[in-house]
Amino acid sequence: MKKILHNNNFILFVFLFFCTLWSGVFYVFPDFADNPITNCSTAFSVFVYWCCICIGIFLLLYLIVLNKYVFAGLFPVFCVLGTIVGYYRYAYKASLTPMLVDAVFHNDFQTSAELITLTLVLLVILNIGVAAIVVYFRFKYIYVNHVCLQLFIAFTGLFVLLNSNDRLHNGIMQRYPFNVYYNIKLYKGMQHEIKSERYCPDTLSYSLPNDSLVVVFVLGESLRADHLSINGYYRETTPYLQNEEQMYSIANIYSEYTHTNRSLPHILTRADSVHEERAFDETSFITLFKNSGFKTSWISNQDPAYTYIYFLNECDTIIHAHPERTVYVYSEWLDEDMLPALDSLLSNISQPNLIILHTIGSHWFYNNHVSDELRKFSPVAENRVITKNTSEEIINAYDNTVVYTDFFLKQVINRLRDRNAIMIYLSDHGEALGENGNWLHANDSYSIKNPACMVWYSDKYSVGNMSKIEALEANKNKFYRTDFLYHSILSAAGIPSSVIVPELDIFTASGND
Ligand SMILES: [Zn+2]
Repeated sequence: MKKILHNNNFILFVFLFFCTLWSGVFYVFPDFADNPITNCSTAFSVFVYWCCICIGIFLLLYLIVLNKYVFAGLFPVFCVLGTIVGYYRYAYKASLTPMLVDAVFHNDFQTSAELITLTLVLLVILNIGVAAIVVYFRFKYIYVNHVCLQLFIAFTGLFVLLNSNDRLHNGIMQRYPFNVYYNIKLYKGMQHEIKSERYCPDTLSYSLPNDSLVVVFVLGESLRADHLSINGYYRETTPYLQNEEQMYSIANIYSEYTHTNRSLPHILTRADSVHEERAFDETSFITLFKNSGFKTSWISNQDPAYTYIYFLNECDTIIHAHPERTVYVYSEWLDEDMLPALDSLLSNISQPNLIILHTIGSHWFYNNHVSDELRKFSPVAENRVITKNTSEEIINAYDNTVVYTDFFLKQVINRLRDRNAIMIYLSDHGEALGENGNWLHANDSYSIKNPACMVWYSDKYSVGNMSKIEALEANKNKFYRTDFLYHSILSAAGIPSSVIVPELDIFTASGND
């Protein structure tokens, strides 16, 4: 047998093929198992995608198999990690994210231990066994010639695959084993962001007369103003909000930026069209709230990006409702999952509170962000490839997310109704729904630049803030850029900072025309 295999590269490639197939089925396929497949063509595109990841694995294993000691050291680790990643993706629909890396490094032992099941232990043992047999086979039967040449071929192949196309690169980097490297790198990047120094435009501390005030800022996702019936949309998408007293829709907001990562730093800081750099070198309004005695909390239902992770870290408390989700997970992912965290913060109010809720809102894939009973419009887009759905299906699915947001905000308001509270909702940007052939966001149609915005306040809040409410009434139809938020939220909280620009404050009567 030894003789037959000697000098035979063919057997090396057959060996690699079976190693890749094993990895592709057990470590990568769970990532594709919940992709909605509606017909042969989507099944084919998912298969092609899976094959691309497998080619990446083949080339990676090709790199390490060339030296038997390197292979013996790395392949068992590759199998064990792959088993764990594949198992959690399949059983818990959990993808590796930087927050999950953080949780792995910082979780207490008990929480981690609860996630280890007998099935997982058996799968790990099985995969260690398989890895041991494979390593034995490598030592006994595989002979490699021209190591440098083969190393060069493997490395070049991998380099070309990862750099040929941005979309393919991103897709591969979110799948095993590349996602391990990618998410650890992102996690390290976040650590860097946390440490970076920023300028605080107002370091004074102000003491507030009222220690029970709750300011809630709901950061929306992809909600365009013109699809809300409260703003005159022909479908009833906001049945609750439009009947809520003390609810103001601020319909004429302009967002310069059309994707979350760029828009959020702009909204949260003093950045404006003249001083865009403030989004990256100044602290947000959160620090000013903190300096004025507010307890500050961020409840996140999104996978935070490096451009705004800094602001989460300005808060006293950060709660991730779904640390295991990325946009590559095609399963239910609802904003109401943030409510238990909100309840727990509200159950313990001993000082003024600022609570930021970062929603998943109307993010594509729309159906995942709507509970079954709120799917008011049908038929809906079922295909994850947006162009394979009709416009009607996409708009129906999108409008269902608006109905869901109406429901979600009602849940938030109900929790604030009997308190001294104000809620401001602002979406990070809008969404294109077929205008000029554009879909989703991060392009330039007007619908993307007109995010939904609303303000609601409780009876108790109105008692000491009549002048603010009169100003809001007078300003609600005026045109503002998203720059208004920073100034207005400080004003809503009664923080008398000198950095507030009255023209950008919707709670000041001299508001901008
Ligand atoms: Zn967004």
